[in-house]
Amino acid sequence: MKRSLEDYRHIVGDEVIARIHRKVLGLLGKHILHINSTYQGGGVAEMLHTLVPLMNDIGLDAGWRILHGSPDFFSITKRFHNGLQGQPIHMTEIKKQLYTQTSETFSYYTHIEHDFVVVHDPQPLPLLKFYKKQQPWVWRCHIDLSNPDENLWEYLKTFILKYDTVIVSSEKYRRVDLPVEYKIMPPAIDPLSPKNRDIDGVTIRKTLARYNIPMDKPILTQISRFDKWKDPEGVINIFQRVKQKVDCRLVLCGSMAADDPEGWEIYENINKTYIKEIENGDILLVTSESNILVNALQRAASVIIQKSTREGFGLTVTEGLWKGKPVLASNVGGIPLQISDGENGCLLDPQDIQGFAERTIELMKDETMAIQLGKNARESVREKFLITRLLADYLDLFHNLLVCSGTCR
Ligand code: UDP
Repeated sequence: MKRSLEDYRHIVGDEVIARIHRKVLGLLGKHILHINSTYQGGGVAEMLHTLVPLMNDIGLDAGWRILHGSPDFFSITKRFHNGLQGQPIHMTEIKKQLYTQTSETFSYYTHIEHDFVVVHDPQPLPLLKFYKKQQPWVWRCHIDLSNPDENLWEYLKTFILKYDTVIVSSEKYRRVDLPVEYKIMPPAIDPLSPKNRDIDGVTIRKTLARYNIPMDKPILTQISRFDKWKDPEGVINIFQRVKQKVDCRLVLCGSMAADDPEGWEIYENINKTYIKEIENGDILLVTSESNILVNALQRAASVIIQKSTREGFGLTVTEGLWKGKPVLASNVGGIPLQISDGENGCLLDPQDIQGFAERTIELMKDETMAIQLGKNARESVREKFLITRLLADYLDLFHNLLVCSGTCR
């Protein structure tokens, strides 16, 4: 949907808007290209859907291209993704060749004559190898880089070192063995998108009814791809303990991202293992891709859980906080950037199933506490994690790159 910066003024205030308009001076008309590997599913696509139109609205000339890969390619890049998050990976020449081939093919039919290029995540990372560099290239990595598989990391570094700046979501992901310019840029959400805009009770009820999600019991939910790092089984274990004390229902909502081939396998496994609770309606598994469903589900939930064992940032956490809901999440990756325990949500050890269950029960029983946490949650997102802040961060980055391309050696 077309967006203008002015649409956000009533949410972020005049000062933020004026600052962005000032920052774009010196960059007007600059041609910017974002490249990632999926149009839908996952946090990167989510942000680009808003960021690119907003960049255009304020006077940049921004575009978005998608790297098209085969199922084999995505199976390899998913393994790379897991490897960057610490899972051992066996590197072979065939894997490397399939990985770089997709970038090479892309280069046959895509001209890049932009002023700045922003490449998102590992899938299109090798692209720079296939272009004559004429402008600053930025690698925006949305993944937790603190503990990657060493062989994979050494291999990926051969591409990363050619980039002018690496953007990561948290200071924790800066690596001593990667001597490049870093920019720390936490992600952000669009408060006006169908996923986050305010909706009324009738819309919430109608939307859940359309997806056959009953509202007769309190709802616990985790909204995340079916991915082992999101630990859907751990969420089920929490739910089983909570249900012994408070009657409720668990909704696991995870649409399938085009660049994540593991999703169905994990889904089927859960479906088989918990067939009894799924058949009697205690646990609902939803795979539909729907922004309004995510919005309604987050608003209908009594408690939102994010029990990831690794999480680059966790936009679902931001979205839950923005809905003014109590969010209970693991103290991993980018999540502690967003939650201060007991102030605007709850932070727990990802192994502490019992702790998750107890805090969930406590919040389900103590409405006053849940409301207070929720209020603080929404304000914390307004202050730090709305798309206008991300836009301003990119403008700062482009200014730095301009200065740097004139003076750096
Ligand atoms: N998402 C969605 N439908 C789903 C599950 C997830 O639209 O069924 C969205 C979610 O709302 C969020 C993004 O996918 O905007 C996930 O981003 P996050 O940073 O939480 O995790 P990632 O998938 O990028 O690891």
